[in-house]
Amino acid sequence: TIHAHKIRKSFGPKTVLKDVDLTIASGEICCIIGPSGSGKSTLLRCINGLETVDSGILKVNGDDFGYYETDTAYHALPPKQLALQRTRVGMVFQSFNLFPNMTARENVMAGPVLVKRADKKQSAKQAQELLTSVGLGAFGDRYPAELSGGQQQRVAIARSLAMNPEIILFDEPTSALDPEKVGEVLNVMQDLARKGMTMVVVTHEMGFAREVADSLIFMDEGNVVERGDAREVLTNPKEPRTQAFLKQVL
Ligand code: ATP
Ligand code: MG
Repeated sequence: TIHAHKIRKSFGPKTVLKDVDLTIASGEICCIIGPSGSGKSTLLRCINGLETVDSGILKVNGDDFGYYETDTAYHALPPKQLALQRTRVGMVFQSFNLFPNMTARENVMAGPVLVKRADKKQSAKQAQELLTSVGLGAFGDRYPAELSGGQQQRVAIARSLAMNPEIILFDEPTSALDPEKVGEVLNVMQDLARKGMTMVVVTHEMGFAREVADSLIFMDEGNVVERGDAREVLTNPKEPRTQAFLKQVL
């Protein structure tokens, strides 16, 4: 579960998240939509510990995340503790972000071996299983440059799964793909959803939101404007700003 209450985040004078509340249950698939600059990526980056919140409560499965609080202030966690905590929340980016000098298998193994000091042989075996589960069992020895965008993104998902995360966040995972490669990545995500993974997905894929998501959040200017059952919000949005946005994208 993710529990966020009154999360604030500013960059200089600009407040990007304005008291955002968010609750995501275990096994829930939540899609986030909203215009460019509305704070979607920043929210994910806070939940993943890539950014620290300025104030508010952020808990992952009950534990304070990315910070600790004293009577007077919030403090960022020391880097080592933060790194360990961050392994609990996986993140998949629009731009894949694979290590270019490592093979697909080495990419998937890197987290367990380097961060968790896992056994190499065991990690290689797990990497092979994960690559197979995303349909890339035969591609373990390829370098990212030798893979299509859709294949790279599936390696990125396998890499994220290798850390055994409690939650996976996706930030526009298909936006950088050629249209014909979008489906193979969405299928892998749908598989994960079926297996009960907790997922937060920033996306423009309204079909995915409609078919796979449980809940949908519409963000605008650093606020959660509307939140509800995904199909309900998509077919019957209540807020004028949501209605206007959906008119543009549907
Ligand atoms: P998009 O749909 O374009 O990805 P978004 O909803 O993900 O947009 P964010 O990337 O979260 O939006 O950005 C929200 C606002 O915060 C934007 O105005 C952006 O310029 C600003 N911002 C984000 N990161 C930083 C940063 N590191 N420093 C300064 N401003 C930032
Ligand atoms: Mg973004």
